[in-house]
Amino acid sequence: MAEALAAVLNYVGGAWQAAGTDGGLALTNPATGESLGLSGSGGAAEIGAAVAAAQRAFPAWRATPVGDRIQFLFKLKVLLDLHIDELARLVTIENGKTLGEARGEIRRGIENVEVACGMPVLMQGYSLEDIAPGIDEIMVRQPLGVVGIITPFNFPLMIPLWFLPYAIATGNTVVLKPSDRVPFAVQRLVELVAETGLPAGVVNLVQGGKPAVDALLDHPDVRAISFVGSTPVAQYVYTRGSANGKRVQCQGGAKNHVVVLPDAEQETTTKIIADSAFGCAGQRCLAVSVTVTVGEAQGWFRERITAAATSLKVGDGLDESVQMGPVITAASQERIAGLIARGESHGAKAIVGTGAVSGNFIAPTVLDGLPAASDLMETEIFGPVLSLVHAETVEEAIAMIDRSAYGNASSIFTQSGASARRFRNAVSTGNVGVNIGVPAPMAYFPFSGWKGSFFGVMHAQGRDAVEFFTDKKVIVERWPKEWSRKF
Ligand code: NAD
Repeated sequence: MAEALAAVLNYVGGAWQAAGTDGGLALTNPATGESLGLSGSGGAAEIGAAVAAAQRAFPAWRATPVGDRIQFLFKLKVLLDLHIDELARLVTIENGKTLGEARGEIRRGIENVEVACGMPVLMQGYSLEDIAPGIDEIMVRQPLGVVGIITPFNFPLMIPLWFLPYAIATGNTVVLKPSDRVPFAVQRLVELVAETGLPAGVVNLVQGGKPAVDALLDHPDVRAISFVGSTPVAQYVYTRGSANGKRVQCQGGAKNHVVVLPDAEQETTTKIIADSAFGCAGQRCLAVSVTVTVGEAQGWFRERITAAATSLKVGDGLDESVQMGPVITAASQERIAGLIARGESHGAKAIVGTGAVSGNFIAPTVLDGLPAASDLMETEIFGPVLSLVHAETVEEAIAMIDRSAYGNASSIFTQSGASARRFRNAVSTGNVGVNIGVPAPMAYFPFSGWKGSFFGVMHAQGRDAVEFFTDKKVIVERWPKEWSRKF
């Protein structure tokens, strides 16, 4: 039975409006193939109206004391906690991940709301008296104005929440443009934002794809852009937004490696790496894509990981016993199957688990013995596919990671402190795990991709978000003693 979903709507200046769907994407439930309708196809007109509403709301919102601004976030946290199961269900229906994974992403999103509630402390400036006789210097942080947030399909709720709470707590107003592949859960999120009583125009939602992105990038009243998505689009958004004089932060794609040393604890290492590779059907920017076994780890790891891959229960994520869901679209499924075949044609052996029969399923797959020269070593597969390669030493593994154009995350599994320390010090990725499969920074740390996985200076979350969403103003003051009245 098809689930009844709300019509796709925009939220502009505190009013819900039908989102145009002409030329929108045909959306389907990835697990069942059932139609979910058409995505929104907003463009310059819708973005123009949303930016104008955000611009109108800005002066009063900026003047609202930060202690009052965060009251809306405290309410939002409570509403998100209350509605977590309903939101998770929407995520599973439109994205395909399991209910457990959907709840997990919402919890990580809520953490960002909680951290942004600390804004009265986080956005403080600093000051120094008597930088010269009778002269004081003060730095204050002020909001930028209207900011645009553009997000991908794979975390429909968590990624908007990497930015939105910080943007509004610091006094900015927002135009959110989520992925057109997953419009439903985020629309419910914005309904809950509205339920907090937030003044009209502080948060606006426009459903659409590239035309909406381009309109945000070109709009003269948009001061900053936060983007998460694939590397080619991240680079495009960074270049066009910067050329238009905006502050831009873009998190891009990934090709993550984990290194397994012979002394790694075999059972937990395998379990953690299987979760990292196959969780969310491999559609996580922190998913491991390549495991580099060092020395004797090759034998035991290959045997154990193939057993783990072939034993996973794959199916519709709404079934609580399912461990892995489908990939987002039939086109994705076809692309990933083609990449597996390419890996085999390069000499790798594909060990394949069981997939579900209908929907966009790819069975968990281990590509054993992919040659270092294969272009798949540099291709973001973004599906449940783990390549196994081998190195003789940790240094060789670090050099392999160094050659990657991406730098989102890497991990090492070992019981040797010295090897772990060498790895975390030398490796060229911005997020690093030691005996951790998905080194996702908590909300109070920056999400730190490097190289082709990030364009910009300030990352998402925590103090970086406060820096990104504020301008520093420095005031130098002189109040000569002789001007003081004698009271
Ligand atoms: P995507 O790049 O296709 O889309 C991201 C956003 O850009 C969406 O809002 C989309 O509507 C818009 N968009 C798409 N094509 C565009 C174009 N040509 N011009 C302008 N805008 C465009 O990404 P996706 O497929 O939704 O998400 C998966 C990708 O995101 C993967 O590469 C994954 O690694 C990456 N990702 C990165 C992180 C990170 O933190 N580094 C986190 C999550 C996902």
